[in-house]
Amino acid sequence: MIKSKGYAAKDSNSKLEYWEFERRELGANDVLIDILYSGICHSDIHQVRDEWGGTQYPIVPGHEIVGRISSVGTAVTKFKKGDLAGVGCMVASCGQCENCKSDQQQFCLEKKTVWTYNSKDVMHDHTFTFGGYSSNIVVDADFVLHIPPSLDIKKVAPLLCAGITTYSPLKRWNVKEGHRVGVLGLGGLGHMAVKIAVAMGAEVTMISHSPRKKADATLLGAQHFLNTNDPEDITGFLGYFDFIIDTVSVPHDYNIYLNLLKTRGVHICVGIPASPMEIDGRSIMGGNKILTASSIGGIQETQDMLNFCAQHNILPETEMIDIEYVNEAYQRVLDSDVKYRFVIDMTSIDG
Ligand code: NAP
Ligand code: ZN
Repeated sequence: MIKSKGYAAKDSNSKLEYWEFERRELGANDVLIDILYSGICHSDIHQVRDEWGGTQYPIVPGHEIVGRISSVGTAVTKFKKGDLAGVGCMVASCGQCENCKSDQQQFCLEKKTVWTYNSKDVMHDHTFTFGGYSSNIVVDADFVLHIPPSLDIKKVAPLLCAGITTYSPLKRWNVKEGHRVGVLGLGGLGHMAVKIAVAMGAEVTMISHSPRKKADATLLGAQHFLNTNDPEDITGFLGYFDFIIDTVSVPHDYNIYLNLLKTRGVHICVGIPASPMEIDGRSIMGGNKILTASSIGGIQETQDMLNFCAQHNILPETEMIDIEYVNEAYQRVLDSDVKYRFVIDMTSIDG
């Protein structure tokens, strides 16, 4: 077994604390990664606090991982010792079903998608996985990404979840010049959605309940700012958008935002509030609107996203912290007080 040091929560009310544990031995197709940086995603907080149900404790969160490969299994050809490597939300799947073969491993039809943490590793030893708030990780090489050398490794980690989760639906819906895109919620996912949609040529409007973020939205590339607390602002954008990408992490009224769409406009949910929300059927029927959602992205698509970000010089806005600060950082995410993603320097676990 391989020794690892991490930060774990013991139950839904406890803080993350230092914890030592073991990872499985390196298999023929695996790589061992010494973790350098780990992003903090709101999904980490939802799961640490068991807001989605089913969390297994202790939980070591973290699915925006960048590190350096320290060892490779005998059958690995894509990576060598010393390479930079990225890991996102998944670490294994069956690889054989229609969805895995079409780069949708997150929807493995054999129900063998293994998430990076808080997930039974049905493809290996059937233990629960531990994520990136740790010193190292063992991952099947097919689920490891190459980091383009032009990207600053101190900032790249959030692309592995926030980046792919916003790139994937924007790509799928072929967002391009001439489209009006509204991004709802300026947080980790939202700020990546703005940057990526702008790079795809769209006109972007930031839709936010935090008027203090207006100047930042402009700096990120948004051309308009809609303050959701201001009814007049909302009226000014009725029937305006081709697409809204909804990153809000708490329950909110979809019906308001569906009214902001053009005829046949598309509202794409990527935020995962902990409780269900009501929709008035007439909000989508009037104008044949589409209400849809999107879950992360496939492994090849994640590599494509990294290459797209390298090509367009896109990186997240980050605040680097030591691991000891992680509990304060969680509170600041909940208070919408992060610009716009925390990245943990995982070497700080050694003090
Ligand atoms: P985040 O950084 O906390 O951003 C969420 C944003 O939601 C906030 O910045 C805020 O934007 C808005 N918000 C927060 N509280 C609000 C409130 N009370 N009323 C209205 N708006 C509020 O979170 P994140 O890491 O971007 O994640 C966002 C959501 O996406 C989470 O639910 C996460 O679990 C989910 N997620 C989904 C996927 C997927 O595959 N679909 C992947 C990753 C994450 P403003 O201040 O601008 O209003
Ligand atoms: Zn995430």
